[in-house]
Amino acid sequence: MQVLVISDIHANFVALDTVLTSLTDYEAVWFLGDLVGYGPQPNECVERLRALPNVTCLVGNHDKAVLGEIDINTFNHDAQTALRWTRRQLAPANLQFLAELAPRAEIGQFTLVHASPRQPVWEYVLDRSIAQENLPYFTTPFCLVGHTHLPAVYVESLNGDDCLDEPPDYAQPRLLQPNRKSILNPGSVGQPRDNNPRASCALLDTDTLTWRYVRVPYDVSLTQQRMREAHLPERLAARLALGW
Ligand code: ZN
Repeated sequence: MQVLVISDIHANFVALDTVLTSLTDYEAVWFLGDLVGYGPQPNECVERLRALPNVTCLVGNHDKAVLGEIDINTFNHDAQTALRWTRRQLAPANLQFLAELAPRAEIGQFTLVHASPRQPVWEYVLDRSIAQENLPYFTTPFCLVGHTHLPAVYVESLNGDDCLDEPPDYAQPRLLQPNRKSILNPGSVGQPRDNNPRASCALLDTDTLTWRYVRVPYDVSLTQQRMREAHLPERLAARLALGW
């Protein structure tokens, strides 16, 4: 099965819709959480995603904050402003959709979480030592995470006592090895933070076990315009053009 793996959409509908329509060779979508927060079109994003025929959705920390399940004051000032705005915008049916999402799922050889297998909503897997500490917390060969907004691959070393940080290779797909546990992050659709403004995602073939990173250019200025019309913090709009 060809799976489109996406994460951290953050109400950036232009980015989401461009990814979903420009990539066509997928049969399922796995979404790793943070559907809302930061961006200008939370309702459109929920409705676009939930209407897909074969989609698995997880909940992220921003989604939980909008639901009141996480204290908004634990977020930075701009994020708080966007979360309060999002709370006022979301239609009841879309809030309900978010409320029903789980923070973790298991599909075949893959564990899916928003943040980390050890702390599915909170922990940032940002380096190989955190990745290694997380290996015991999933039993499938592979774990897919989002949350950092950075595409990343961490692979258990051959002797099993270390975790290697293997940067994304856009030139060729990665062949996943079931005998070595791996943690893979597709990056962020709606707010990439690796200095590349293009939407980040991955195409996973669960039969051949290949993982391919894809970057999708979208109309960043249109999302920025909609953020400014909604009076969302200017800093959140500006950062999209630079990818941080
Ligand atoms: Zn996020």
